[in-house]
Amino acid sequence: MSNRAIYPGTFDPITNGHIDIVARASKIFDHVIVAVAASTSKNTAFSTDERVQFARETLSQYTNVEVQRFEGLLANFVRQWGANAVLRGLRAVSDFEYEFQLAGMNKHLVPEADTIFMPTRENYSYISSSLIREIASLGGDVSEFVHPIVRDALAERFSSRHQKK
Ligand code: ADP
Repeated sequence: MSNRAIYPGTFDPITNGHIDIVARASKIFDHVIVAVAASTSKNTAFSTDERVQFARETLSQYTNVEVQRFEGLLANFVRQWGANAVLRGLRAVSDFEYEFQLAGMNKHLVPEADTIFMPTRENYSYISSSLIREIASLGGDVSEFVHPIVRDALAERFSSRHQKK
């Protein structure tokens, strides 16, 4: 039996923290599907197509990793792809309460899949997509935290704001 993990998230945009989780998971699982959430309650900076494209481009070296968009309930997507694991990254204890609740609900909805938590690499614990967006929107340098493709996209997205000053 092959082990197939779904790594769901908003990835707005994908960061080096996310990429590190995928890189490590690709050595553990036979197949990793990065599931980019299309419709969320969050207002995203990048469209679903852009978020999928950034993830595809930055993860292209991992041959057992694919990127797909998903809409609706994660449980349905997990079942549709025949996955036996849902992968989530943990940065801090503060992530845990919500993640634990989510894992419990998903286990109830899809009993055949288990949530696997992977701790962030120490020096990535303070990287979040929202902070990256904020730094970039204020004209800060995010090149240490994201792939150059994403850095350039962020610069382009926020450049008009700086010109308006
Ligand atoms: P969501 O909107 O579902 O939280 P995100 O795109 O913010 O989606 O994150 C997707 C997953 O990646 C989550 O499990 C999150 O905890 C994890 N993650 C985010 N940033 C990091 C990081 N720097 N290191 C490890 N895991 C991370």
